[in-house]
Amino acid sequence: MVSITVICVVVQHDICVGLKHTPPSPHTVPVVSKRDYYEVLGVDRTASENDIKSAFRSLARKYHPDKNPNDKSAEAKFKEVQEAYAILSDSDEKAKYDRFGHNRPGGSPFGPGGFQGVDINIDDLFGGGFESIFSSIFGGRGSRRNERGSDLLYRHRIPFNEAFEGSEAEIIIEVMSTCESCDGIGSKDPDAIISCGTCEGHGRLRRMQRVGPFTQQVVSDCPACGGNGKTITNPCEDCGGEGRLNKEKKVRFSIPPGIESGTRLRMSGYGEASKDLRGPSGHLYIEISHDEHPWFERDGQDLLMALPVNYVDLVLGAEIEIPHVDGKPLIVKIPKGSMPGETVSIRGRGFPRNKRSGRGDVTVVLRLKPTGKLSRSAKKTLEGLKLELDDGLSAEDSALKEAERRRK
Ligand SMILES: [Zn+2]
Ligand SMILES: [Zn+2]
Repeated sequence: MVSITVICVVVQHDICVGLKHTPPSPHTVPVVSKRDYYEVLGVDRTASENDIKSAFRSLARKYHPDKNPNDKSAEAKFKEVQEAYAILSDSDEKAKYDRFGHNRPGGSPFGPGGFQGVDINIDDLFGGGFESIFSSIFGGRGSRRNERGSDLLYRHRIPFNEAFEGSEAEIIIEVMSTCESCDGIGSKDPDAIISCGTCEGHGRLRRMQRVGPFTQQVVSDCPACGGNGKTITNPCEDCGGEGRLNKEKKVRFSIPPGIESGTRLRMSGYGEASKDLRGPSGHLYIEISHDEHPWFERDGQDLLMALPVNYVDLVLGAEIEIPHVDGKPLIVKIPKGSMPGETVSIRGRGFPRNKRSGRGDVTVVLRLKPTGKLSRSAKKTLEGLKLELDDGLSAEDSALKEAERRRK
């Protein structure tokens, strides 16, 4: 992996060139429509490191793509707060921004392409796993040492009733793990590890690059050693010098009752081993989804179903029993004079609520059950009832009454 990051440094002679410029024509003046970084984070210039961090955390949670799927404006905001935080959380970059604003010499500190955005897990915005991402953006100073191993995502599907009751599960996954033969150093013999000749053990290479009128110092990972500054002359046979290898791991976890499809459980330290011996392992995220129920739809912790009921039960009222996911039958009490499309609520029989106590509700939408083939005598009885059941209103008055009810 070669990450190119641009750090500061404007070479003296280029500044002179810059100053010699007579007032630039309007075409060459960069139009800065960027918002002020402090304004983006909603903090003032005297805000402490902690204020900046907590402002970022709360805005990033608000605009995170997981919370705003397919929302372009939230996506843009998410990137904007990331960029502001990348600069304001780095003391050197912050000092430069405070002095020059967006028009600093040397162009964007993120390189010619500007800020590209970074991936942050929404869970890390509640804990604190995002700092390392930002501290590594400005490569020259931020050390790659102790970098956390990669996070993994595993999808796990469960039956509907397990989502209701919760369960214990066990999976076997392949994870990049520390090689036991060499204890992760990549070499059987620790003395056979020498300093990389290309980067002299720094792990990074610096070179000068011209961008516009300026010369910048560009720092990138050393391609010869992959950035760790070491060369292994006698690589471990099992891991080929990588220090890590794929291994099967058994992971046990509990699924809380009432879990929603799409919830990600985080197993800290179950992700990939770090490339750096001192770095902690990444996280394993287990995304839970569940099967559909034959007739229920979920709306959070509430359940929704449609129940076809015959005309007589709607008119006279009835109690209808149907098996339920909690093991006890669900009794739907239909009040007399019900209409198709009306709902009956059964409190406390939905899914268990996460953290809070209690359960959601079940909502039953009443439908009119289609009538089967009618016998001659049934037809006759219905014809007889028709007059008796009629409220005597004309079609026009009925339409009017219905419209009034609907518009209420
Ligand atoms: Zn090994
Ligand atoms: Zn090297």
